Amino acid sequence: MGPELREVFAPEPYLAITWQVNNFCNFSCSYCNPGNWAGDNPNNGNLDIYIKNLDEIVKRYKKAGYKNFKFFFSGGEPTAWRNFIPICEWIYETMPYATLAVNTNLSRPLKWWQKHAYLFDDIVASFHVEQCNKERYEENSMWLCENVNYLSTKILLHEERFWECVEFAEHLKTVMPNYFVEWTPLYDELSHVTGPWKYSDPKHVQFIESHNIETHQSVPKPNKRTEMTVSYNRYDDKTEQVCNANDIIVKSQNFFSGWKCNVGDCIFINPVGTMSLASCGMGGDVGHILEDIKNVGPKQITCYKEMCMCGTDIIIPKHWTGETVKSERKIPISHIA
Ligand code: SF4
Ligand code: SF4
Repeated sequence: MGPELREVFAPEPYLAITWQVNNFCNFSCSYCNPGNWAGDNPNNGNLDIYIKNLDEIVKRYKKAGYKNFKFFFSGGEPTAWRNFIPICEWIYETMPYATLAVNTNLSRPLKWWQKHAYLFDDIVASFHVEQCNKERYEENSMWLCENVNYLSTKILLHEERFWECVEFAEHLKTVMPNYFVEWTPLYDELSHVTGPWKYSDPKHVQFIESHNIETHQSVPKPNKRTEMTVSYNRYDDKTEQVCNANDIIVKSQNFFSGWKCNVGDCIFINPVGTMSLASCGMGGDVGHILEDIKNVGPKQITCYKEMCMCGTDIIIPKHWTGETVKSERKIPISHIA
């Protein structure tokens, strides 16, 4: 057994805003909940109010000593949201050192990415085999891997088409000069039922247990605008490493009940605009991005959840206390696909 995780920490306090912009997606993957793609909450208006309230929240955190900001957009498919680029442009212009990240199915054409890539530091490109146009995904990946700081090729391991996913990723590794491949088992919260996704084929299980992240860089790429919106792991043997949520999940280290968690460091905005601190439900609802932001601010709580499931929650700074609490299993209010 390896060293025990004792802390997720940030060198300087940073605020991460994770925004599930709406519930429209141009894909409808069979393992996904229609609540993530049906599109009955398009949220296409109110651009000025979104920006005014975001501005006020950022100013509040700055006053509390937070110097760094990270915005992570997911959906649905965020690149299909009408307000997406105007809000990203506002962030880029007013906070040039903020980190801007997006989780996308990479279905936009190459020209779209060439026009807007300057806005983004991190692109998490989820590969969903059922509806992905592989040629486009490959073309975009080959261009983006040299033109953004971080491109994650996140391979969602579809159970029936498992080896097709593997084969495609292996091919990408031969054509992308830089790559960061994340082999990703399906999250249970992607489905409409809860409970861990169980792969029935032992060969799938064996593959997942022996594959996690593969990286390679052979050509230069742009530098990050700030190094300060990154979390790190600290273990009981005092070793440290960059916190990667996928890695923590694969190693089954995402059990934090009894830990102190800085839920106020992560604001989650759900597809109807409700804001909570973290997406796990522990931080509670604190308002609405269009209507009421007065209760949004830094906060630390004790975690009572059995399992921390969402990537953006796992990287929130938190530390082990040794305290044992009776944990509860709640249905997550979000997913990051
Ligand atoms: S898993 Fe992602 S790409 Fe697939 S339908 Fe759901 S939100 Fe869209
Ligand atoms: S489940 Fe929520 S409260 Fe618990 S560690 Fe994760 S983000 Fe923090």
